[in-house]
Amino acid sequence: MLAYRVTQFGAPLSAMQEANPKPKGGEVLLKVTGCGVCHSDVHIWDGYFDMGGGRKVPAISNDTLPVAMGHEVAGEVVELGPDAKGVKIGDRRVVYPWIGCGQCAICARGEEHLCNKPRAIGVNRDGGFADHVLVPDAKYLVDYAGLDHDLACTFACSGLTAFSAIKKIGPIGAGGSLLIIGAGGLGLVGIKLAKAVTGVAPIVADIDDRKLEAAKAAGAAEVINSSAPDAVKRLIGMTGGGVTGAVDFVGAESSVKFGTSVLGKAGKLVIVGLFGGSITLPVPMFPFRSWSIQGSMTGSLAELEELIDLGRKGIVQSPPLATRPLAEAQRTVEELKAGKIVGRVVLHP
Ligand SMILES: [Zn+2]
Ligand SMILES: [Zn+2]
Repeated sequence: MLAYRVTQFGAPLSAMQEANPKPKGGEVLLKVTGCGVCHSDVHIWDGYFDMGGGRKVPAISNDTLPVAMGHEVAGEVVELGPDAKGVKIGDRRVVYPWIGCGQCAICARGEEHLCNKPRAIGVNRDGGFADHVLVPDAKYLVDYAGLDHDLACTFACSGLTAFSAIKKIGPIGAGGSLLIIGAGGLGLVGIKLAKAVTGVAPIVADIDDRKLEAAKAAGAAEVINSSAPDAVKRLIGMTGGGVTGAVDFVGAESSVKFGTSVLGKAGKLVIVGLFGGSITLPVPMFPFRSWSIQGSMTGSLAELEELIDLGRKGIVQSPPLATRPLAEAQRTVEELKAGKIVGRVVLHP
């Protein structure tokens, strides 16, 4: 098999020819049909996340290297371990990549994506920047029949991340309002989903008018340029005292400040973007306004299954998709880092 591996953080990916892994126990080997390139691949490649104030935390540990990135993988089953059950040769599946230890309390309640000992595909173990990928168990393979295979692989991270964040807001009752901050890739994917999950078409805020036009076209109820001096006042006026729920797809100091300035009483802000930075908030505002602020990181296997069902019903907006040969993995990660990519690139081996 051919794998493009991170051998040193920030250095060009190394193309390595190697023997196919042999599935043991319940493992399953897939031939990769497509793998989306995600912004977190840039962080993994760089080796760190920016926590603000010059503080950096490692994205993965050094001893994970050399690793093949790529966590939005779709593929065809080509070999089964002796104990693998639930799939057969030739089945096409999306890989649920956020695999945990399978033994702790977090994993036991079905939230493997939050496990402290992650074995995530394309992060802690080899992923889809390769022509084959080994998955620890068939239960992590989700049938996507009825969906385009390039779209389906983007559900494993970008779609799931948007979906799980919006689900944390939950249904919004009559007269309530939902704000989406950031009309980039995830924000746009979230607009239709938001209506389906919360019952409310969202108001979308961004600092870029062109992105706001795209948000309007994707079904936003209202759009607002959050850099306008009267944006907070307008939004509070528009929603009768502040928004019921807000999802911050940017996750920067400015976006969280904007979110909390427009959050209504008993409002909930879900932060999912990973831009970075740090914030200071007046503590009494939490009790005074009964706020909740919650983080969200990817989503569970059950949520991926639910999302694929919604996708079959046409509820999930596809990001603009472009396909490139796997050999362009390096160029793609660099262009993503430079902000030159709109939508999702799916690599094809
Ligand atoms: Zn991702
Ligand atoms: Zn665990």
